[in-house]
Amino acid sequence: MNVPILDLKAQFATIEADVRAAIDRVLQSQRFILGPEVEQLEKQIADLTGTAEAIGVSSGTDALLCALMAAEIGPEDEVIVPAFSFFATVGVVARLGAVPVFVDIDPVTFNADPDAIARAVTHRTRAIIVVHLFGQCADMDPVLDVARQHNLVVIEDAAQALGATYRGKPAGSLGDYGCFSFFPSKNLGAYGDAGMIVTRNRENGQRCRLLRQHGAKPKYHHPLLGGNFRIDAMQAAILNAKLPHLAAWTAARRRNAEAYDRLLAGSSVRTPAIASYNESIFHQYVIRVSERDSVRAALSEHGVGTEIYYPEPLHLQPCLAYLGYGEGDLPVAETASREVLALPIYPELTDDMLRHVAEQVRAAAQGVAAPSEPALVAAGAS
Ligand SMILES: *Cc1c(COP(=O)(O)O)cnc(C)c1O
Repeated sequence: MNVPILDLKAQFATIEADVRAAIDRVLQSQRFILGPEVEQLEKQIADLTGTAEAIGVSSGTDALLCALMAAEIGPEDEVIVPAFSFFATVGVVARLGAVPVFVDIDPVTFNADPDAIARAVTHRTRAIIVVHLFGQCADMDPVLDVARQHNLVVIEDAAQALGATYRGKPAGSLGDYGCFSFFPSKNLGAYGDAGMIVTRNRENGQRCRLLRQHGAKPKYHHPLLGGNFRIDAMQAAILNAKLPHLAAWTAARRRNAEAYDRLLAGSSVRTPAIASYNESIFHQYVIRVSERDSVRAALSEHGVGTEIYYPEPLHLQPCLAYLGYGEGDLPVAETASREVLALPIYPELTDDMLRHVAEQVRAAAQGVAAPSEPALVAAGAS
């Protein structure tokens, strides 16, 4: 039996007619940039996240970049970011000439450690980017407290958390800006690149809207220095066709996670822990396992696709060497990079596939030592 890490063809088979109709609507309209499909998507994402404004943009990366630009982050400004995330989280900071300041993560949730964030604040800190990794939110209350005390902007990198909640509140609605990605492999994926910024603050939303179109208002008059961060009408139409399925897909991801939890109990891998304040959407199901690379190779031989999110922490990336970080500076993130392994979690997995994956994981990890004990324990992690 073959179980890939993700099977978008299986999903397409269930929505093909709706997607083709959506694409056809755009073809008939010959309206490709912004327009009614984009407005409809923005309204629905604003409703879903309980925010005042949603601004469709060209990617999750551009959502983060545009939010930082709206917050007027620039050279000399320090921005606190977790050391364990996808590169985009820090790339946008560095590209604006601002200074990324890395913090370590909680070993249980893989999200930024709020105490480390508090310790990293200096008189030059302007913003904090928190990442809601793998589908569960970072512990936001202590982060928002620090931000209030020091008057800092909070940007949520919610690229992996559309539909997740923190203490009952939607991911993306907690900070000043929430940034989503519709990269094809995300839980709500476009058929190309696309993203969204959400905000509770209408003024912030208006700034993002201007920045998305070269900072122009009216056309050809530029009060702000923006860029082309627009979402395509075609992508918006496809996302409008897919959005009605999101709740069912999320429910299926959660069921799959519960099945793995049960099937992997008592094995030598550590299954994910969700903090008591969180409802995860299980964007990924990431286990910890020592001797990860040999376990992964064995799984591959038995037809089980896996992925490593992320094999190198951000502070050790070659293009950021100028920041002066070295091995050992952020040990929890470094250990996570050596031990994490994502298993297939996509909604269309069958019971047989789940059982096959779990059996193969148990077999591949048999006799392997338990993963390193977390140095910290997440507050309220279950
Ligand atoms: C996917 C992702 C991004 C970037 O989104 P793109 O749409 O690929 O630009 C940023 N941050 C995180 C955590 C992501 O997973």
